[in-house]
Amino acid sequence: MSKGLPKRSENYSEWYNELVKKADLAENSAVRGCMVIKPYGFSIWEKMQRALDDMFKETGHSNAYFPLFIPKSFLSKEASHVEGFAKECAVVTHYRLINDPNGNGVIVDPDAKLEEELIVRPTSETVIWNTYKSWIQSYRDLPLLINQWANVVRWEMRTRIFLRTAEFLWQEGHTAHATKVEAEEETARMLDVYATFAEEWMALPVVKGQKTANERFAGAEDTLCIEAMMQDGKALQAGTSHFLGQNFAKAFDVKFQDKSGALEYVWGTSWGVSTRLMGALIMAHSDDLGLVLPPKLAPIQVVIVPIFKGDEQLEQISEKINPILKELKSKGISVKFDKDDQARPGWKFAEYELKGVPVRVAVGMRDLESGTVEVARRDNLSKEIVSIEGIAQYLENLLNDIQENIYKKALDFRTENTFEVNTWDEFTAKIEEGGFLMAHWDGTSETEEKIKELTKATIRCIPLNSKSEAGVCVLTGKPSEGRVIFARAY
Ligand code: AMP
Repeated sequence: MSKGLPKRSENYSEWYNELVKKADLAENSAVRGCMVIKPYGFSIWEKMQRALDDMFKETGHSNAYFPLFIPKSFLSKEASHVEGFAKECAVVTHYRLINDPNGNGVIVDPDAKLEEELIVRPTSETVIWNTYKSWIQSYRDLPLLINQWANVVRWEMRTRIFLRTAEFLWQEGHTAHATKVEAEEETARMLDVYATFAEEWMALPVVKGQKTANERFAGAEDTLCIEAMMQDGKALQAGTSHFLGQNFAKAFDVKFQDKSGALEYVWGTSWGVSTRLMGALIMAHSDDLGLVLPPKLAPIQVVIVPIFKGDEQLEQISEKINPILKELKSKGISVKFDKDDQARPGWKFAEYELKGVPVRVAVGMRDLESGTVEVARRDNLSKEIVSIEGIAQYLENLLNDIQENIYKKALDFRTENTFEVNTWDEFTAKIEEGGFLMAHWDGTSETEEKIKELTKATIRCIPLNSKSEAGVCVLTGKPSEGRVIFARAY
């Protein structure tokens, strides 16, 4: 039974929008570009947060919280930072409303103008580095390893739920170090954390790479990223880790006394992933029946659907299932036993498919006699009759298999849709089919922009593991030392 989703192959974008809505993940709000994340969607986000937060703690970071509002003067202190974000800033100018004397409802009180206008944070480097000034005096205060879970606002013109919203939830790490090397190591370490999270939790293969100067974070000296491929062959930047050099330390005068007593500027990093990861998760794995969730992030990992008529049959099934529920829970598996007698099993099956529950177990009276259950996998839609004896262990193994299989499927898809192209004709033909194009580029921003203008493809990254290989730029024929990844992107 299909829940009437458009097909991916027919209209990928419509499929995505409908899926987000029908699977109860999120919806658009009264404010353009701002979303309401619904309980089911939020429970997936919470699982992501928990896993990431554990990884941040394991790598020595602590959480803290900084204000939503940033004085406009702070933002201006780092020249390229303000230039990069100015176009997307929401600004608070007043602090009071009054009744309109002309009877037009409430209006902004012209007498309540803020002395200094406030920016709703698009990112928190400025407010945090302003704080670090008083937190850091000596080398003993370093490294300072802080993360914040927060919302930020970037007034994006073209928005799409989860992938690009005007307000989004994220975490932002902001660290300060005594040396350049330590800050560079931190930048790479957190990129690794993101890549591990994407691959092991989201079952999403990613390419670790470096952004070109054009795509670098405003105020950073170097931006590393993880790039993923969606099922339509488009790229999605899934996370970024920035080496800030001493830019923010200089802008906010953050110095420390080193062991020899000399005063030095601090070195910084910042890194973030956002609710965009929800979009990545949906777009990378789901199908025409609905969500496909990797077990590690599924709010419900196993659903057990009894097939029964009347209370007596339900009782008999429950008697058999209750100890299994207990055993599954003791293994840390989240399981739902859906005893609702108002909905038909077929309706429930479709509903759990739509919601991406990795494993469905159906059990009826005949199963009780034969000591078996029917186990259905969401990832490949296969079904199997399995003995009730040892079922909890079986399901635990199956969840691991599914996690691996979803990853492998995404990896195979990426491999099949990654192409080396060597000429401009090849490039322009292939880019229409989607996928990652590995091509030589002459290293200039002009060529990068020209290619974008001509094909809408951008350089997603210079892969960190790319081997040096002499070649010539696909557009200009000028010499190049290695291939970069071009793709159309979200
Ligand atoms: P940035 O601070 O620009 O490096 O972005 C940090 C993270 O937030 C990256 O992983 C981006 O993919 C993500 N991000 C940036 N802009 C948006 C947006 N408008 N909506 C959702 N996520 C975003």
